[in-house]
Amino acid sequence: MKITYYGTAAGEAWPGVFCDCELCRKARLLGGKNIRTRSQALVNQDLLLDLPPENNIHSLLLGLDLQKVEALLFTHSHSDHCYPEDLEFLREPYSHTRKGLMEVFGNPSVAQRFLDTGVGLGGEKERFRFHRLLPGDSFTVLGYRVLALRATHTKTEQCLFYRIEKDGKSLLYAHDTGALSEENMEMLASAGGKLNLVSLDCTQQKYRESGYHMGFYDDVEQKERLIKAGLADGKTIWVVNHFSHNGGWLHEELEAQAEKYGFLASYDGMSVEF
Ligand SMILES: [Zn+2]
Ligand SMILES: [Zn+2]
Ligand SMILES: [Zn+2]
Repeated sequence: MKITYYGTAAGEAWPGVFCDCELCRKARLLGGKNIRTRSQALVNQDLLLDLPPENNIHSLLLGLDLQKVEALLFTHSHSDHCYPEDLEFLREPYSHTRKGLMEVFGNPSVAQRFLDTGVGLGGEKERFRFHRLLPGDSFTVLGYRVLALRATHTKTEQCLFYRIEKDGKSLLYAHDTGALSEENMEMLASAGGKLNLVSLDCTQQKYRESGYHMGFYDDVEQKERLIKAGLADGKTIWVVNHFSHNGGWLHEELEAQAEKYGFLASYDGMSVEF
C-alpha cells in the first residue's frame, strides 16, 4: 500500500493566504517543504482523501493523476477539505476521457455542500455517485475495506476520519480530529489487526490541543495509547500531517522533533510505501 500527501496545511495554507507573520514570511523565503497547500492525500493510485481548492494544483505541479482516481472519501465539509465544484469537470464536455462513475463518500454536511454549490449528488451523466456516511459506517469500495470513525472536531457536523485496509495492509488517516475517543479505540479494536501506518493531526505542532485538533505531543500520546492497546506495534509507520502557521515549527524543526519520537513529518508530495 502507498500513501501520497499532496496537501499538508491547515485551512489558511502555509504561508497563510492573507498572512505575512514571521513564520509565513520565513516559509516564503525558505520555500521547499515549507510551502504547504490544503489537505489532500491519495491511497495507491485510485482512492483520494479529500478534495481541497488546490486539487488542480496538485495535479498540475505535484503529479497527482486524477485520471486514475475512482473513489473519493471526504472527511468533513470545511473548505480546506471540500471543494466539490471540481467534480463538475468529470463530465462531458469538460472531460472526454473519464469513463464509469467515481464513487464519492461524505457525511450529510458534505452532501449539503454539494447541493448548496449546485454540483448535486451525481448520476450517470455527472460521472460520480454520492454516498452519505455516518460515524460507525463501514463499507467496501475498489477492494478497500473502509471504516468511518467519529472525529472530535466541529460540533456542527459529524466529521469523519478513516481506517482503510486492503490486501492485508491497513492505515489510519486521522486528521481534523482531537485525541482518539474511547469509542474510536473500541471500533479500531473490533476492526482487528495492527495498523501499518498511522497519520495523525498535528495542526498545533508545539502546542497541546486535543479537543478540536492536536499538537505534536498529543500525537506522541496517541502513539503510546495505540501501541498499548495492541492496535499498532514497533513496525507501524507514524506520520504527522495538517499544520498551521500558529503551530510554531517550520519544516526543519518539525522534522527534528518528529525524528526524535519516531514520526515522519509530512510535506507536500511525500510518498510512503508500506
Ligand atoms: Zn483542515
Ligand atoms: Zn502566518
Ligand atoms: Zn476542519
